[in-house]
Amino acid sequence: MKNKYHTVIIGGGCLGAACAFSIQRKLGIHHSQIAIVEKKVLGAGLSSRHSAIVRAANTSKMAARMAKQSIELWKNLKSIWGVEIDYEQSGAIWITDSNLQKSDSRWQSIETSMREESIEFNSIPYQEIRKLSKSAIKTSPDELYYYESEVLQFESAQILNGIQNAVKKNGIAIYEHCEVIGFEQYCEKQLSAVNTSQGKIYADHFVNASGPWCTELFYQLGLTIPVALEPVYVANFLVSCNEIPKSMPIIADYCNDVYFRRWQGNFLHMHQPRNTHKSQIAKSFSRSTMNPDGANIIYDAMSFNLNHHQLEAYIEKINHRFPNLGKPVYAGGYQSFFDITPDLQFILGPDTSFPNLFHCLGAGQGLKYAPLFGELIAELILDRQALNLEFDSSEFAISRFNPAPAINQTQNNKLFT
Ligand SMILES: Cc1cc2nc3c(=O)[nH]c(=O)nc-3n(C[C@H](O)[C@H](O)[C@H](O)COP(=O)(O)OP(=O)(O)OC[C@H]3O[C@@H](n4cnc5c(N)ncnc54)[C@H](O)[C@@H]3O)c2cc1C
Repeated sequence: MKNKYHTVIIGGGCLGAACAFSIQRKLGIHHSQIAIVEKKVLGAGLSSRHSAIVRAANTSKMAARMAKQSIELWKNLKSIWGVEIDYEQSGAIWITDSNLQKSDSRWQSIETSMREESIEFNSIPYQEIRKLSKSAIKTSPDELYYYESEVLQFESAQILNGIQNAVKKNGIAIYEHCEVIGFEQYCEKQLSAVNTSQGKIYADHFVNASGPWCTELFYQLGLTIPVALEPVYVANFLVSCNEIPKSMPIIADYCNDVYFRRWQGNFLHMHQPRNTHKSQIAKSFSRSTMNPDGANIIYDAMSFNLNHHQLEAYIEKINHRFPNLGKPVYAGGYQSFFDITPDLQFILGPDTSFPNLFHCLGAGQGLKYAPLFGELIAELILDRQALNLEFDSSEFAISRFNPAPAINQTQNNKLFT
């Protein structure tokens, strides 16, 4: 094992890999300077359990600006990762309850703020929705519809494959089945090495991309990183190609609390969105401190099952939104977890106690930002300014949780980030 690198990335999910590709490319050196240390295999964590949707609209204008740029990078991935990954620009239909919306002007304010960011997120009439969904979905006068056009759909297996190819292409050193178990310090404020299950690895810089597992790992450095787990149930149903149009937009159905997308040809893929209600966020945080296994449950083979009750609930939601489908054929599902923070926004940038440690954590929406976050972390590590001036990440700094994590008091339900 070579044991000294420019940067060691802890965690081989989409965010860790993206950081590795960008730092290596910007260093411009051909022999391997960057190592990813992954306790299982590349992409085995949450990055194998997402819906592969890349979209921009967000309650935070800066997060939306970042996502918009990330969409462009996903479309031109070869220029930064050296590989291409196929995608479809399907757009997304957002559905909300008109009664709720009367008392809640946030959807309109998102529309306005997205316009200021040149992100197309517009209220549209139900007739348009019928056209966009080729009459596959039911509309109602009690609902309001928004359309976001620049939304991309990938296939998750192709993303994993692309990441594996890019690791080889970019000459990244990858240590799989290698767990970071502790740290070495030069001095009070500088990390010098990670202790792993395969030995010590030294580096000048360290990136924490270990997702929801990081709370436990970094506690030994005295750092409190507030990431918790919110359970999410994913189900796929086999449907006829004639029943779901080929280029059906993603349906973000906030009336039924479910996302739908067409998946691998003729599957309908669905899961609930993150819960934005403050008490539910608090519940996830209390649950995670009581769960001694933490996110290891993601690797549990038993989590590749849904129980009868969850399945019935999902079939009801399908029947409500897609009345022509009849009783859909269940084609497998699993339980997973969103990696959430108290304000549901990601954690990005340097640590406050260790300046050579950088955090890159997704908060339940990490995939879409991966290419841009890789670029931003690379510039921070290499002390370059340009991108970080354009995309000011101070709003997402870990320091916002100092001294104690606070659940965002203004958030209520039916709000997406
Ligand atoms: C059902 C579902 C649907 C989703 N859909 C979307 C979507 O459509 N779009 C989107 O943008 N996001 C989506 N997400 C969120 C997205 O999947 C995650 O935010 C993203 O994958 C996080 O990536 P990551 O690299 O931070 O984490 P991970 O992929 O979990 O990577 C962290 C890695 O660190 C490793 N690790 C942990 N501890 C250690 C250690 N001590 N030593 C070594 N390695 C370690 C883990 O094994 C893991 O592989 C979805 C999530 C879920 C659950």
